[in-house]
Amino acid sequence: MAFCEPAEVMRVSRVTPSMLRVRLRAVGDWRWFVDGRGDERIDLAFPAPGETVADVSHFVDEHAGVHRSDPAPEWRHYTARKVHAAGAEIDIDFVLHEGGVASAWAERAEPGHVLGVFRGATASRAYYAPPADATWQLFVADATGLPGLARIVEELPPGARAQAIVEVPTEADRQHVESRGDVTWIWVVGPAGPASQLPSVVERLALPDGPGYAWVACEASISRRIRGLLRGVHAQPRDRHRTVGYWTAGASGHVEQPRGEG
Ligand SMILES: Cc1cc2nc3c(=O)[nH]c(=O)nc-3n(C[C@H](O)[C@H](O)[C@H](O)COP(=O)(O)OP(=O)(O)OC[C@H]3O[C@@H](n4cnc5c(N)ncnc54)[C@H](O)[C@@H]3O)c2cc1C
Repeated sequence: MAFCEPAEVMRVSRVTPSMLRVRLRAVGDWRWFVDGRGDERIDLAFPAPGETVADVSHFVDEHAGVHRSDPAPEWRHYTARKVHAAGAEIDIDFVLHEGGVASAWAERAEPGHVLGVFRGATASRAYYAPPADATWQLFVADATGLPGLARIVEELPPGARAQAIVEVPTEADRQHVESRGDVTWIWVVGPAGPASQLPSVVERLALPDGPGYAWVACEASISRRIRGLLRGVHAQPRDRHRTVGYWTAGASGHVEQPRGEG
């Protein structure tokens, strides 16, 4: 099992005006995880500008301690929105936005283009981990968190009580998500990032009584504000929520998750 594996684009489809779905197919006999949890993270390496195939060997060499002088391909965090064909095929939903390497790649993606998929770990990585005694759940996301939120909601057990709050760029970016759970939705149309309306919606919520669990995935400063509201206004204990910064306004690429927090 190599550290970074190639996967080729099978097809590209538009989910909503601001979201493209790319189905990737493993090249070779490696497979993605089939037992991942809702917001499972998948890290993708992109081709150099003007090329259609990502140089996965760069990361494989690096992993093996071989120094290369050429720059490493750009890579970004995404979510395995759905896994098919026993891990051979993976859907990734890309939010389209200005000035992003990954976003621009998705807009030009065509069948046959090749990305790198980091598949070194022995288990899939996810942040969503509701305690067994949670009687209600709260999910809060901007468009980048929507793929994970949608998969979590789709995989809820029958009757699970949840509230989903999602901010999307336009009314047409709302999605219909199937669930066996008892889910109520609040859709907010607004700008992603620092002017997000998500904190004010969370502040005004009346959360149910009893032990619960909140999962938040959005721009980093907004996710921190929501974490403060969950702890302050809603008096939620620290082990009853997971807030994740999915991107940072004004910064490119990897978002360092604070250790021991969130
Ligand atoms: C665990 C995890 C899972 C994620 N899953 C998904 C997913 O399934 N789908 C998805 O689309 N994203 C997802 N993201 C977010 C994604 O990694 C970032 O949005 C990333 O910055 C996109 O890379 P880029 O190359 O397009 O933009 P970058 O080159 O990283 O950024 C360029 C500029 O665009 C800004 N920017 C980045 N993202 C956005 C945005 N969404 N809206 C407006 N401005 C933006 C940056 O602040 C920067 O100024 C996830 C992040 C994490 C941590």
